[in-house]
Amino acid sequence: MPIQEADYIWKNGEMIPWAEATTHVLTHALLYGTCAFEGSRAYETNDGTVVFRNDAHVERLFYSARMYGIGIKYTEDEIIEATRRTVRENGLKSAYIRTNAYLGYGEMSPAAANAPDDFVIAAFPWGRYMGADAIEKGVDVAVSSWRRLAGSTIPAGAKLAGNYLSSRLIAMEARRAGVTEGIGLSHEGLLSEAGSANLFLVKGGKLMTPPFSSSILHGITRASIITLAKDLGIEVVEQEMPREMLYGADEMFFTGTAAEITPIRQVDGIEVGKGERSITSALQKAFFGLFDGTTEDKWGWLDRV
Ligand code: PLP
Repeated sequence: MPIQEADYIWKNGEMIPWAEATTHVLTHALLYGTCAFEGSRAYETNDGTVVFRNDAHVERLFYSARMYGIGIKYTEDEIIEATRRTVRENGLKSAYIRTNAYLGYGEMSPAAANAPDDFVIAAFPWGRYMGADAIEKGVDVAVSSWRRLAGSTIPAGAKLAGNYLSSRLIAMEARRAGVTEGIGLSHEGLLSEAGSANLFLVKGGKLMTPPFSSSILHGITRASIITLAKDLGIEVVEQEMPREMLYGADEMFFTGTAAEITPIRQVDGIEVGKGERSITSALQKAFFGLFDGTTEDKWGWLDRV
């Protein structure tokens, strides 16, 4: 989906016109993938616009940046406020928000100490990541031949540009196969996550998801869904699962800031369950209810802009 540009981007402490937020072609982030980034969302509610879990996204960004030695001149609170400001000053009621901390143009070496760090926040209108009716109808997926990263390769839980080469390979293969997304297996052949979202299965009324490991991103939506499920009295199990679990699941869905809660209709050409989605629907209702006011925000996840 092409980006519909907003008026301003927050760059290094100032709001500047979108077109002026440029970077050098030899920037470190382009050459070596030294960019820590976040994707968060602003939603319109009856009570104004909110950023969903702004603090959790900023905290993960600082963790990711630390792992790559990307300096950040701001505090977490300053970035939380800068995120609100970017949405507010662009007059956006809802938005996707991209927050990037990256190494700029400096000495030619991946380990260069003198590359300046840059920080940008862009917010723009955005719809459904996996297609206009994906949330209602679900998507078809395939298991990828590409494995996710092994332990001690790239830090677990960090959202770093370099990791997304794996996501791109999975996504390109899925497209060639004519499906919306690919599910990556861990290097041991166990279920891990999609190229761009975390994975949940429902079996016998239980909600199951692979545990945190180096091969999955510690999704903020994933954590929120686990909390909402427990709140609804649904048993949640985080456990290693072989690939075969995919074909016997009753329900299956992806979670992510972009994917929100997207049901999976078919995997490798095999229908998921019998088409009944009571747990997926209950979780969608609880999640989207946070924004239409039908789910109480007991956890302080909605950050007013
Ligand atoms: N896994 C990958 C590879 C992702 O890119 C994303 C999206 O950001 C997720 C999982 C979901 O994470 P979150 O819910 O924090 O957006």
